[in-house]
Amino acid sequence: MTDQRVFALIPPVDTILKQPSLQQTIAALGREPVKLAIRAEVDILRRAMASDAAEYLSLSREVVAERVAEAAVTRIGQEFKPLFRPVFNLTGTVIHTNLGRSRLPDSAIAAMAIAAGEAVDLEYNLETGKRGDRDLHLEALICELTGAEAATVVNNNAAAVVLLLNTLALGQEVIISRGELVEIGGAFRIPDVMESAGAKLREVGTTNRTHARDFEAALSPQTALVMKVHASNYEIRGFTSAVPEAELAAIAHGANIPFVSDLGSGCLVDMARFGLPPEPTVRATVEAGADLVTFSGDKLLGGPQSGIIVGRADLIKRIKANPLKRALRVDKTVLAGLLSVLQLYRDPESLPQRLPLLADLTRSVDDIEKAVQRVLPVVREAVGEKFVTGGLDCKSQIGSGALPLELMPSRAIAISLRSGQSDAGLTELAATLRALPKPIIGRLSDGSLILDLRCLRDEQGFCEQLRSL
Ligand SMILES: *Cc1c(COP(=O)(O)O)cnc(C)c1O
Repeated sequence: MTDQRVFALIPPVDTILKQPSLQQTIAALGREPVKLAIRAEVDILRRAMASDAAEYLSLSREVVAERVAEAAVTRIGQEFKPLFRPVFNLTGTVIHTNLGRSRLPDSAIAAMAIAAGEAVDLEYNLETGKRGDRDLHLEALICELTGAEAATVVNNNAAAVVLLLNTLALGQEVIISRGELVEIGGAFRIPDVMESAGAKLREVGTTNRTHARDFEAALSPQTALVMKVHASNYEIRGFTSAVPEAELAAIAHGANIPFVSDLGSGCLVDMARFGLPPEPTVRATVEAGADLVTFSGDKLLGGPQSGIIVGRADLIKRIKANPLKRALRVDKTVLAGLLSVLQLYRDPESLPQRLPLLADLTRSVDDIEKAVQRVLPVVREAVGEKFVTGGLDCKSQIGSGALPLELMPSRAIAISLRSGQSDAGLTELAATLRALPKPIIGRLSDGSLILDLRCLRDEQGFCEQLRSL
């Protein structure tokens, strides 16, 4: 039988709200969420009192009020956690789509913050005082960097491809090699994209070999476009043949139709100059005769999520006039961040210093090994006796479909079980590292947890996380 006097110790919600320990939270978040949290904590306390009154009878009303207030602050802290948790990407995949792709340079973050916090001349011409075009801020720079006549920007490259096809090939045929009917992941499959854009896929050639004559034979009055899609995440090797872009352009132009190329990652500068595997540049594709080129703003370019279409001015004009463009347009913060990143490309030489993505991609094995030496003792100490921990040669990959087979040499910390331990121990350790306040994400491979340190920049923060284990 509960001693009913115990419930009288709980002050009314409005009294608890006056506790000094709650004032900062109320100032930050408002009274209502704090009230709800207090009510929830009072309910919990009531149940605890009902089952064990003696535990509480000696407390003062003041102490009970403070306990509820503190519990309410903790509860609210959990409820108002930011949506995204920063993590350590030690997966070895530099452009990791599930981990948000590229980290942006400080200049771009600052530009995005200004655009987010202020009214800006997004679609406003400051000279005439009339309505402007949101693409104009970037168009001249994109054209300078790619050699194209005109450009427009949409939400991502998938949107760019859909918008292009819907504008130029609605109800008509698009000729494409069977070797390029790729699935990029996340439901982006060329045949499905074609269908959803309202275009008809006219596939030619075979998986491994497609010739100019295949394209020529497929041309008909129904043909709207000849298209090339960068294979991105796979490679066909051995007895293969593909038609070079210049030749595809000539075939299309002979039939008076545009040739378009979806580059996927799309580079603005030759990656070979940084010692990275070569990727076709947008400029080279334009020069080869592509009338339109689509590529991502957040793959090898290293900017915020966006898709860029460059090419002939008359075609870009039609694309911009498509009502779908309005639905796929990007917001001011993304445009500001993208513009800021594009500006770095005016001085390609300094890109590895100024663009975090290129800094990670070009980081030397020596430099990564030094990081391994610095943090290895902390990792060893944190994971304990159950595991064998040491340095390991590994390969990082660029990720997001860029050159899946070209792996970059890197150094990792490998954590393996001592013999006789069960495999579950390693999965458990991986889960423990993911449960840290700033989760550490590696990859499990061959009975080891591999932490590729290529993308580790905040070593101090990393070590602090491990010491808290
Ligand atoms: C990645 C990719 C896309 C999709 O680009 P997102 O920016 O992720 O929407 C389209 N086409 C190719 C060839 C790609 O590699």
